[in-house]
Amino acid sequence: SKVAGRNRLCFFNQTMQEAITARAEMEQKLREAIEHNQFQLYYQIQVSSSGQALGAEALIRWQHPEDGQISPFNFIPLAEETGLILPIGEWVLNTACAQLKKWQQNPLTQDLVLAVNVSALQIHQEDFVEQLKSILQKHKITPERLKLELTESMLVENVSGIITKINTLRKIGVLFSLDDFGTGYSSLQYLKKLPINQLKIDQSFVRDLITDTNDRAIVRTIITMSHNLGLNVIAEGVETVEQKQYLLSEGCMNYQGYLFSKPVPIDEFEALIFRLSDT
Ligand code: C2E
Ligand code: CA
Ligand code: CA
Ligand code: CA
Repeated sequence: SKVAGRNRLCFFNQTMQEAITARAEMEQKLREAIEHNQFQLYYQIQVSSSGQALGAEALIRWQHPEDGQISPFNFIPLAEETGLILPIGEWVLNTACAQLKKWQQNPLTQDLVLAVNVSALQIHQEDFVEQLKSILQKHKITPERLKLELTESMLVENVSGIITKINTLRKIGVLFSLDDFGTGYSSLQYLKKLPINQLKIDQSFVRDLITDTNDRAIVRTIITMSHNLGLNVIAEGVETVEQKQYLLSEGCMNYQGYLFSKPVPIDEFEALIFRLSDT
């Protein structure tokens, strides 16, 4: 009927309005989070086949005073859409480099490599290279201990511009890893031109490695391709000994995942490192 139709329309409008309001509120909250420093970095260990600590990936956490901890899955996309990922990303790089500086002053942690996620908007900034160089200089860290994680999805637009930036930063020692590898497209086209150091096998291929023959084939192919291209390869989302054993048997010697540790605050991470170096 006409009435029901009108009600439906009202309901639809109201839902849309609610979504818009919620988004605007979230954006405002995100601005406040930047202003009031509500972010924290967690660290997830990366290990070699012998169990030695190679370093960590820095993963952002938002500690909201009322809502508690908010997952990056729930705010990074909005941060990217609104451009707020730029100040957030700068905070992440600064905080990560300050941490690296501390590690470099202790023989037990001086060789650890810290991987930092960089978003498309960040790397596409004209002055990204200058920004990063000045952060490295400010903290006086060895650039060889910083690894930037890029994703395939950022290699669609202005690829040659990004390659130039990667090359410039590689010359001063910064390392590059291609995150979530295998989930994007056109990767093979660019892969041979990309001056990166490492491929990171996406966790979606690792999850069912033991039971899914397609995933096994994909993982085996990525490992072989990495070796043929002279790239280091690391698997993420490693949760079981069986997964690690399979990866090892196929020649992947670097791992990250809950099997070793979930991402933890800095104190817990350092306790883990000191415990590992004790044994
Ligand atoms: P990512 O870069 O692919 O990070 C890996 C995600 O997998 C992390 O989720 C990590 O906690 C989770 N993980 C690690 N090991 C395991 C495992 O064994 N099993 C499973 N199921 N999951 C595992 P997290 O920390 O929630 O981060 C989600 C995403 O948010 C990241 O995915 C990354 O895309 C983004 N992100 C996190 N921190 C930053 C940041 O500082 N900057 C930017 N631009 N993005 C970030
Ligand atoms: Ca990552
Ligand atoms: Ca990943
Ligand atoms: Ca991912």
